[in-house]
Amino acid sequence: MSGVERALTRSTDETLELAGTVGELLRAGDVVSLVGDLGAGKTVFARGVARALGVTEPVVSPSFTIVREYDGRMPLVHVDVYRLDHLQELHDLGFDDLIGSDAVTVVEWGDRVGALLPADRLDVHLEPGAGDDDRSVSLEASGVTWARRRDELVDAVGAG
Ligand code: ADP
Ligand code: MG
Repeated sequence: MSGVERALTRSTDETLELAGTVGELLRAGDVVSLVGDLGAGKTVFARGVARALGVTEPVVSPSFTIVREYDGRMPLVHVDVYRLDHLQELHDLGFDDLIGSDAVTVVEWGDRVGALLPADRLDVHLEPGAGDDDRSVSLEASGVTWARRRDELVDAVGAG
């Protein structure tokens, strides 16, 4: 199953809000891949997800650490592979164990490590829009676990 939902956000707050409503749908073991250029709003989206998961610690850009873990209703693993030189580094960091753990895993630049991500996942593309603070956000849910949440996802995106 696969379907694409589209939204337009007009501010940082609107992206936070959209990510928050999407975050409410997330379950243990889910993987969210965030795709978009520098400054597109991937970290902002990750913050919205974190908020929905009840993470109180500030979510910082993980660029230099690659993987950060936060405590929430479920653990949140925030990954940024921007500075990754080799896929092997992710293996060394225990990425394979994190995927499929009870955590929700959010991966910035997920398209760069596509081969390591499960087929069951939510791909979120963020692109600049007409205005400086406009972002066009597309959400593509794949796999059986998302098939069951399809209506909720449509509602979440529609409400944004
Ligand atoms: P990335 O992680 O994709 O490199 P960030 O999330 O770190 O990008 O930064 C996005 C920047 O764009 C932030 O400074 C944010 O405030 C700004 N911004 C402006 N409008 C939006 C919007 N609609 N959605 C997300 N971020 C926005
Ligand atoms: Mg970022």
